[in-house]
Amino acid sequence: MSKKKAAILGATGAAGQQFVEALKDHPWFEIAGLYASERSEGKPYGVAAKWFTSSPLQEDIAAMTVGNVEKAIHDVDQYDLFFSALPSGLSKEVEGLFAEHKPVISTASGYRYEDDVPILVPEVNAPHSELIKIQQEKRGWKGFVVPGPNCTTMGLIISLKPIYEKFGVKSVFMTSMQALSGAGYPGHSSLDIVDNMIPFIAKEEGKVVIETVKTLGAYDQGSIQNAGFPVSCTCTRVAVIDGHMLSIFVQTEKPCTPDDLKAAFVEFNDSCRKEFGDLPSSPKDAIVVKNEENRPQPRLDREIGDGMSTVVGRIRQDEVYGQHGIKYVALSHNTKRGAAKGELMAAEYLMTQGYF
Ligand code: NAP
Repeated sequence: MSKKKAAILGATGAAGQQFVEALKDHPWFEIAGLYASERSEGKPYGVAAKWFTSSPLQEDIAAMTVGNVEKAIHDVDQYDLFFSALPSGLSKEVEGLFAEHKPVISTASGYRYEDDVPILVPEVNAPHSELIKIQQEKRGWKGFVVPGPNCTTMGLIISLKPIYEKFGVKSVFMTSMQALSGAGYPGHSSLDIVDNMIPFIAKEEGKVVIETVKTLGAYDQGSIQNAGFPVSCTCTRVAVIDGHMLSIFVQTEKPCTPDDLKAAFVEFNDSCRKEFGDLPSSPKDAIVVKNEENRPQPRLDREIGDGMSTVVGRIRQDEVYGQHGIKYVALSHNTKRGAAKGELMAAEYLMTQGYF
């Protein structure tokens, strides 16, 4: 099988670099084009991108010339699909232009809240991909836009999925401790964040609330019925480079003990392995449970499953709701699972379903 030619929009940023990293030696896709702003136009990628991911940049990619996103539409026929890591505002403006012709798999929020657009995470809501046909018919597009969720929502929904299915959910409270790379490059100034944490991230909490109930919603005759539980959250920024940590409390419909939850996670992993285990970016375990009392920790655990596993620990019964309340901590790599590699896995899934 010849590899599909992929172009990355916003290739020089934090999420864009992770697309470059995730697509390295990929068996189904190859990087055929790199695009960013006017600032990067015409430069070799190795010069335009301030490379800060943990593994070295490949020489052939470093030598590729970066194009301007504004002009990329003229090259649309050269590619089979686009991965977008554009700033949110720009994504709304630009991704639709490309989707008229080709599939666009995006980390950005521009299209997430449109009724005909799935926020696709294969392990959570694979049937939502049915919306793609409706999107194409409604908009007259040959391609489509499929975004993933916000990086903070990712660890929440993956860990909630088995709880929601097995025990039912009445309400969710979550507090995030989010990594610096979540704000893109260069992000906060060192004087703002070293020796500090910031208890506010613009627009983040609203995104988590809406995306959680949309992604966990049911696909029914051409539309998504949102999951019917309330979500309350507080999002904070901490001095960690990668890995969003979430402190989660779930009020359940049915009783759920810590042992019940661990068993539900094992069952969930088995079913994910069965359904998605053949996708190159799928982790061996969607959820990894750490039993040590002081884990997960971002520095030690974010690369588990190549940055694709959601790492859960501190599973405890809630003191207020007893067996109808469970609490835990979840860690998810924000630029891998919560952005590029997570989107790559969605693209792999869509390819196996014949969408391109
Ligand atoms: P970033 O580090 O600031 O990178 C932004 C990218 O967009 C760069 O490649 C930049 O190119 C390009 N760009 C900026 N303005 C542009 C313009 N006017 N025209 C064309 N290209 C332009 O941001 P990021 O953190 O990677 O985030 C990218 C997207 O992914 C955002 O929508 C974000 O919400 C989403 N996301 C990020 C994360 C994360 O953890 N970082 C996780 C999930 C989703 P230049 O280098 O040439 O300026």
